[in-house]
Amino acid sequence: MRIGIDLDDTICQTTEIVQNRLKRYATEEKMNPLDIINDDFLKHSFFSIYLEDIYLNVDVKKDAINVLKRLRSRGNEIYVVTARRSDYVPSVTDVIKITERWLNENNIEVDGIITAAYGETKADVCKRYNIDIMIDDDPYNYKKIVSSGTKCLLFDDKERYDLKNNYVTSWLEIEKYIERNR
Ligand SMILES: [Mg+2]
Repeated sequence: MRIGIDLDDTICQTTEIVQNRLKRYATEEKMNPLDIINDDFLKHSFFSIYLEDIYLNVDVKKDAINVLKRLRSRGNEIYVVTARRSDYVPSVTDVIKITERWLNENNIEVDGIITAAYGETKADVCKRYNIDIMIDDDPYNYKKIVSSGTKCLLFDDKERYDLKNNYVTSWLEIEKYIERNR
């Protein structure tokens, strides 16, 4: 099977490190973190300084490394399909390179990395790359992908949504689902 997997908040704990670095930046700037994130200019200034650090130091989610390894050893292909892009801040000019470096450092092997894919673009990418199933934590992506005819699992380890089908809350559940539906 060819499996597409979102990166931020699916493979890695992006929200957690963003909150951590935002707090640090807010303290440095003597500001309120919410005032930074709610203001486009301040938010961009924050990410200009911290995005490279965030992408290089974000932690992997529980069980993700082992499950990805097992899925691949059973002959599945793994494609990272992410909204990350190279033109958001000057410190991240080659988002594929930086993502590859992080994957290497965390011993995650994949068959491809596709960037700048969000919403309809992500759904189109799934079609173009013949993705059999996509795993994503964003309900908007989920909706777009499903309605364009690609299977999708909504990854929700913080249990924020109440979808009944195609809904997983851990990497071990992802593994079980894929094994059952081969
Ligand atoms: Mg995500």
